[in-house]
Amino acid sequence: MTQATSGLTATLGYPRIGKHRELKKALEAFWQGQFDEASLYQTAQAIELQNWQVQLAAGIDRIGVGDFSLYDGVLDWSLRLGIVPERFQHLTGLARYFAMARGQTGIPALEMTKWFDTNYHYLVPEITMPLQPADFSDFLATVQRAQAVLGERAVPIVLGPLTLVRLSRWTGDLVSLLTEFHNRYVSLLTALKRLNVVEVQIHEPALVLGDAHQYQSFYQSTYQTLAQVGLPIQLVTYFDDLGSAYPWVVELPVAGISLDFTRGRNLELVQTYGFPSNKQLGVGIVDARNVWKIRPDEVLATLKTLQAITPHLRVQPSASLQFVPYDVRLETKLPEPLYHVLSFAEQKLREVRQLAQALQGVAEVAAELETLRQQWQAFYAFSPVNPAVQARLQNLQPSDFSRPLPYEQRKLQQPVLPPLPTTTIGSFPQTPEVRQLRVKLKRGEITKAEYEAAIDAEIAKCIRYQEEIGLDVLVHGEFERTDMVEFFAQQLAGFAFTEHGWVQSYGSRCVRPPIIYGDIARTQPMTVREFRVAQSLTSKPVKGMLTGPVTMLNWSFPRTDISRKEQAFQIALALRDEVADLEAAGARMIQIDEPALREGLPLKPERWEEYLTWAVDAFRLAAGVARPETQIHTHMCYSEFGDIIAHIQRLDADVLSIENSRSNNQTLMQIVEGGYTHQVGNGVYDVHSPAVPATEQMVQLLQAGLAHLPAEQIWVNPDCGLKTRRWEEVIPALKNMVAAAQQLRAQVHGASH
Ligand code: GLN
Ligand code: ZN
Repeated sequence: MTQATSGLTATLGYPRIGKHRELKKALEAFWQGQFDEASLYQTAQAIELQNWQVQLAAGIDRIGVGDFSLYDGVLDWSLRLGIVPERFQHLTGLARYFAMARGQTGIPALEMTKWFDTNYHYLVPEITMPLQPADFSDFLATVQRAQAVLGERAVPIVLGPLTLVRLSRWTGDLVSLLTEFHNRYVSLLTALKRLNVVEVQIHEPALVLGDAHQYQSFYQSTYQTLAQVGLPIQLVTYFDDLGSAYPWVVELPVAGISLDFTRGRNLELVQTYGFPSNKQLGVGIVDARNVWKIRPDEVLATLKTLQAITPHLRVQPSASLQFVPYDVRLETKLPEPLYHVLSFAEQKLREVRQLAQALQGVAEVAAELETLRQQWQAFYAFSPVNPAVQARLQNLQPSDFSRPLPYEQRKLQQPVLPPLPTTTIGSFPQTPEVRQLRVKLKRGEITKAEYEAAIDAEIAKCIRYQEEIGLDVLVHGEFERTDMVEFFAQQLAGFAFTEHGWVQSYGSRCVRPPIIYGDIARTQPMTVREFRVAQSLTSKPVKGMLTGPVTMLNWSFPRTDISRKEQAFQIALALRDEVADLEAAGARMIQIDEPALREGLPLKPERWEEYLTWAVDAFRLAAGVARPETQIHTHMCYSEFGDIIAHIQRLDADVLSIENSRSNNQTLMQIVEGGYTHQVGNGVYDVHSPAVPATEQMVQLLQAGLAHLPAEQIWVNPDCGLKTRRWEEVIPALKNMVAAAQQLRAQVHGASH
């Protein structure tokens, strides 16, 4: 085994969208034909160079390079390793690359899914043998460019073979697949060794998944093979602890192992089992998944504990910094005490260095850490503690988490609708004109009253269309909302917003998650005005429309000094008041969306129960105030329910609407097989496609549902909200949907009489 190289600090990857979202803009210009290939690469390399320079200036010893991507890093590794599905093989270059990422007429893109428990989406490799030839030339060229700037500090980041396989769709025999991979990785490492890199990072986050032990022998044979190249390997894991795999992972023939000390129980594992003294321990202690500065006393205590156990430590972020924005210094509007405890990628580099210096006993650091302690003190003094919220949390009673009557009895009191009632998920097209209204309001070009009048005109139009289409349960259309989380967060005390805090969600798409910094409280009704406007225009029921507590939490940067459960409960209390106000305003149905509930599941199944218990409780706390006659809906799209159906049932929503058209009835079947007893809104219209689905197609989907669930349990709706679609698509699609329901209604009636 090759010895670890020295170097006290390291990074595992950096944001790639560009400090001012240069990559996003370049990609969009390229796709629209306004930018040529050379300009796109030029922008990309400029971002990459800047990333390297910043890390160099911060004094990082081992700078991860080669993680930059035009769209997605997993896609890049698929291409390098020759994993190209047949439908893309006739294409070349960027045409092939973007076809795999985004699809082309007649050629569906690779499937996209969440990267572990983050909000980043990667493209799922589809492996079929034989592979296409491997080609690492772009990666090797990047490494050489990096070496020219960073010298021996440049450390290539390679996606590990077992993580790649674990996250792929593949068929065939794992042994022969891995044998093929071994050859390809050996040739890559050999080429890197020839470039004189001092070490390579191989990222294997799949090691933290609950099923890692099933792959133990494959990890062992893979790393035996790769070790023979003689290039020191830093085996990198993150997002959770190694769990029961710890004892054998630390014995793999590599020079160093990186662990995440911000999540899970790696510290305990190191204390229990020790750590091989001849290996480097990469200590991922600066949180790469959240925006808070380190709390110096906590992290130093961890580092000192580790130092007493094993000699070769390296301080680093817990994962790639791609999950946080670039630079907090771009923010000009945050309250001072909050600003001083925030740390984005650039600030986190500084923290890595500070901690390494503190370990070495560098004197100047002591003063810096003292300043940091004071900044935290100032933050705690400032951060709004709301005594009323605290008192409510203290006094919660079991009955607060339950509707007053069980579902079967509530159902009898709830609105009577035709069989297979039709509805939508909430949003209707957000046209450029609607978005422009908000820009004008912000610039002061229109008054609040003018803005609201324009929104109301949209609501009126939307109600009129829905009545013409013949839907049974209407919505107001969500025209006033920028985003389903931001809209609520902006009206709640305890949330802060950045101007430039973008993080990549996928490809060119970025999100700007709000930051929870104090007790969350509702200061006034948030949705009642628009609801009233809509309901006043129709005799059909209009659904009140809220974003659920768990989704609000999972799509924000939460506090780390307060449990996620407590933060979810605080949001739930605010929503509970909103539910009561909507009811008082005449809402007979209220939908509480929880699309992010499933994705918040911990990586390790043994922690699911705990999460699902408080997550479902938070939902029940928000909904529990509703009177029996008020029908509570929830919506969860693009989720798998198979293994969590008991918890979905425990939400105790009267109606659950799901995406189903894309999964070809899979989602519905999971619900049926799980024995779900409440009503299900069956998604029959794929809202991600501009295509208008035919009535017949939707009839077929519904019939499949009717074969397994009684008609009384089924609603008819699109898969998700319609805000990204155009009116010209939505109106005919919904007309067809209503026609499909009506057609089946006749049959259902016929059958029961
Ligand atoms: N009510 C939201 C909408 O219709 C739900 C969006 C979602 O599930 N992501 O847009
Ligand atoms: Zn949805």
